[in-house]
Amino acid sequence: MPETANPARPVDLLIVGAGFGGLYMLLKARRQGLAAQVIEAAGSVGGTWYHNRYPGARVDIESMEYSFGFDEALQQDWHWTERYAAQPELLRYANHVADRFGLRDGIRLNTRLAGAHFDASAQRWQAWSETGERWSARFLVLAAGPLSTPNRPDFPGLADFRGRVLHTADWPHEAVDFSGQRVGVIGTGSSAVQAIPLIAEQAAQLTVFQRTATYAVPAHNGPLDPDFEARIKADYAGFRARNRQMMGGFGSLLPPNRISALAVSPEQRDAMFEQRWRIGGFGVLGTFSDLIVNPAANELAGEFVRRKIRATVHDPATAEALCPRHPIGCKRLCVDTGYYATYNRPNVRLVDLAAAPIEGFTPAGLVAGGEEHRFDSLVLATGFDAMTGTVLRLDLRGRGGERIQDHWKAGPLNCLGMAIAGFPNLFNLVGPGSTSAFTNVIVAIEHQVDWIAGCIADLDAQGLATIEATPQAEADYVAHVNTVAARTIYLNCNSWYLGANIAGKPRMFMPLFGFPAYVEKCAEVARQGYTGFVLG
Ligand code: NAP
Repeated sequence: MPETANPARPVDLLIVGAGFGGLYMLLKARRQGLAAQVIEAAGSVGGTWYHNRYPGARVDIESMEYSFGFDEALQQDWHWTERYAAQPELLRYANHVADRFGLRDGIRLNTRLAGAHFDASAQRWQAWSETGERWSARFLVLAAGPLSTPNRPDFPGLADFRGRVLHTADWPHEAVDFSGQRVGVIGTGSSAVQAIPLIAEQAAQLTVFQRTATYAVPAHNGPLDPDFEARIKADYAGFRARNRQMMGGFGSLLPPNRISALAVSPEQRDAMFEQRWRIGGFGVLGTFSDLIVNPAANELAGEFVRRKIRATVHDPATAEALCPRHPIGCKRLCVDTGYYATYNRPNVRLVDLAAAPIEGFTPAGLVAGGEEHRFDSLVLATGFDAMTGTVLRLDLRGRGGERIQDHWKAGPLNCLGMAIAGFPNLFNLVGPGSTSAFTNVIVAIEHQVDWIAGCIADLDAQGLATIEATPQAEADYVAHVNTVAARTIYLNCNSWYLGANIAGKPRMFMPLFGFPAYVEKCAEVARQGYTGFVLG
């Protein structure tokens, strides 16, 4: 810990990050009479929606679901303009929440946490920022987001490229104008799928560099239907409650799906896929009960989407290159507006890196498969060092000075997707082991924040100072997460869920599938006096 002249400010909770997680944690802590401080590296609240400003950035869960449910007046008053809200509206919503609940005076902006050490004698976290502020906190809540450290692959010669380089997750605040430009996009995940159709409309020429083809289902976005809004608002609490019973914490309005894809005729199956395709969004993956657990059923869904791609994309070779071969849903499904049809434009070209890998950059572009591709601007849509990247950049040390980098050497060990053995009184919000990646993340955040607040209240009621997961509980929990994943198709591809998108990252399946069972598990742990934890 660096020596600084600044005295450490004592707080009950130091909360890192002012996205939806940090905002709700601050509100909850204050309502419980706790002194809490949020620190945020960015210049505003909003987290993900502050940084990800690329063209087309919007949520892929319906706006009426992707919003806080903890306050009836908030959810009644707020009006979303589109079925899937775009980034500017989501950022306005985050700011509205901060203002409505008077949170701003508890948030210190432009303040990045540098490190935190657990002081066992004082039973407190001693934390400091890169700018020298210090805090002494009973509890440390990391709410920095599972997708907050952009992945910038180490392409040979990239520094020689003379054009502009942008990253979707770190997009400039001023408008970027691609008019008349030749643009290259590397990546075809969710961010790229949203950005590519809009960049293609503006740029003179767009070259997309694809390493793995992606499955995208239509969003059918549009203005929010006022009748739908009224119907949801007539019983918003009931709608939220029904959504919490769903595997992903959303989607309770979709038609029931209790049958196997293998139990119906090909004609019936296609009609059912088609029905969901017309509805749009993630519901396509829920057409049948077994698409995520049975590879044969999954293959039928994958083939349905491949047929859609072939029917949409005119050039047969491009269509074939766009057809994914891994199980659908194994990598996060993309929700799109006109993605595949964009490849019919005369100014758009797809380069399949599987056939022509990137060899290196030149001042004018990049060389792939022996061919130089020239462009004025390059967009890296290469994703994130997900779930661990942000935490592992901290000088975080637990009991006995153990470094998080050592504790997580073989992968991000955790208990209940929140706690870490040897790191008492630390809660990692929607991190490894949580259901965040498979859940409407706001629902996941609300659940975890409520659980953490309840846990602190229980400790305070009993006059206890610390809570710490045992190594055994941690090992058991990580085994549970992996056992659940092994019953699905999620281990059958290289995804960021597995850490497989980052060179050298340990391969460990990080998110837990199944929100309702997770909620029940957390509740049971608390009911039984925090089994798997040592209270001190
Ligand atoms: P991503 O899904 O990880 O996609 C990154 C893309 O870059 C992939 O196509 C990847 O190829 C490619 N890539 C990475 N490194 C590369 C390299 N060295 N050479 C060539 N290609 C490389 O990242 P993302 O699109 O930013 O999305 C990440 C997550 O953020 C999503 O899964 C989702 O959870 C969330 N998100 C949500 C929305 C939304 O709709 N609300 C929008 C954006 C993001 P490989 O597949 O071969 O690794």
